[in-house]
Amino acid sequence: PNLEYELLRRRIYSNTKEFWNFIKSSLKSTNEKTIDFEQIMTLGGEHYRSLINDINQLSLVDGYEDWRHKESQELSDLVQKRFEFLQNPQDCSNARKLVCSLNKGCGYGCQLHHTVYCFMVAYGTQRTLILKSKGWRYHKSGWEEIFLPLSDTCTSPTGESVSNWPGRAETQVVNLPIIDSLSPRPPFLPLAIPEDLAPRLTRLHGDPIVWWVGQILKYLLRPQEKTSNLIQQAMDKLGYKRPIVGVHVRRTDKVGTEAAFHRLEEYMMEVDEYYAQLALKQPNDVIVKRVYLASDDPKVLLEAKSKYPEYDIVCDPQVSKMAAVSTRYSDTSLFGIIYDIHMLAMSDFLVCTFSSQVCRIAYEIMQNQYPDASARYKSLDDIYYYGGQNPHNVIAVLPHEPKKIGEMNVVPGDLIGVAGNHWDGFSKGRNLRTNQIGLYPTFKVKDKIEVAKFPTYQEMTH
Ligand code: GDP
Repeated sequence: PNLEYELLRRRIYSNTKEFWNFIKSSLKSTNEKTIDFEQIMTLGGEHYRSLINDINQLSLVDGYEDWRHKESQELSDLVQKRFEFLQNPQDCSNARKLVCSLNKGCGYGCQLHHTVYCFMVAYGTQRTLILKSKGWRYHKSGWEEIFLPLSDTCTSPTGESVSNWPGRAETQVVNLPIIDSLSPRPPFLPLAIPEDLAPRLTRLHGDPIVWWVGQILKYLLRPQEKTSNLIQQAMDKLGYKRPIVGVHVRRTDKVGTEAAFHRLEEYMMEVDEYYAQLALKQPNDVIVKRVYLASDDPKVLLEAKSKYPEYDIVCDPQVSKMAAVSTRYSDTSLFGIIYDIHMLAMSDFLVCTFSSQVCRIAYEIMQNQYPDASARYKSLDDIYYYGGQNPHNVIAVLPHEPKKIGEMNVVPGDLIGVAGNHWDGFSKGRNLRTNQIGLYPTFKVKDKIEVAKFPTYQEMTH
């Protein structure tokens, strides 16, 4: 083991003790009236940041950083090659196909997730995905005007035999419905990852399903030259620089129906936290606190610029105009949302609400930028999920006795179907052993990684 690694490991160990000493004595030496709230928040926050910083440093000195980059590249190359193989059959007239329509009546993020789901099922059934996109609400003449076609050899949805899902193995063309009305449900749906990739993926990445979705988006969203030029021009105009925190504030039609309202201050507090952390990591640098702000409500951009003059808040006024409610879900808004998602995904850290598909798509694409970007976000509401997913289960690793009303009893090994994180140390869920619904301390569980037997594409090597 190397010297720096051992020094850092011991430092984290003893400073975790120090942290606890500090909390304990701050609370014990005072009664409730004289409790030094300021001191606990300030020095406690510094303790916390220092520990997080040390843990992050560990990965830089443990000697595996090169391996992480190499492994991430290799895994990505492997699945991208499989996707290419699947999508480019030599004889399209004989190829088994899965046909999917880009006509789900929802927003851009939602439609991308619909397409990703189709791709998962195509990969799982080893059928070439044919995307029908003429008349797409975001671009009438179709997907291929904006992104590369999903195949160079096979884009026609016709065939000898056609059936609705599930069809038979020998059916040449199978039509897939939206995930909400899919029956029977195949094992390839989120949160499942391909079993043959699971050992490598779980070692490399903190949230393998997000990596898997990110890889599919990487393939689907290969831009046409026109599209990448437009993005590049807009970035040049913006004077894009790093570090940068991406903030997505979803308002208008989402608030009160599918998500709660969050004040701009709540987002900016998280941005502050990110930059406080960065200042520890780069103590000698003058750091410009830069934010890329995307919102469907242009008023948010004005509010941010007037309330936070100490930040460099970048956004494209042209782009945010395209997000206006009047043109939402139509072709005039397409470049705006593509660009905003691109910029959010490019950022060093993402602050948004996972209740929004825009925010989740950005987080998924962000995974293509780093070996493991699973911790580079703060969601103000939901934990990560995929619309239409199978239950998200976690496994208890520590026992828990309820201390307060609303908490549940947990023994190690229990499976808990998680409903959400309250971001106060507790999550809510249903214990599948006892059927009890309640709160449990989030640190007492770990994620259950779901795997499914997808084809392994062995014939590719021949
Ligand atoms: P969700 O409703 O937030 O879960 O995400 P969807 O993508 O399904 O639908 C929201 C739609 O609103 C997007 O597709 C965009 O058309 C628009 N929109 C939402 N937020 C933004 C934003 O920050 N920038 C832009 N340009 N458009 C947005």
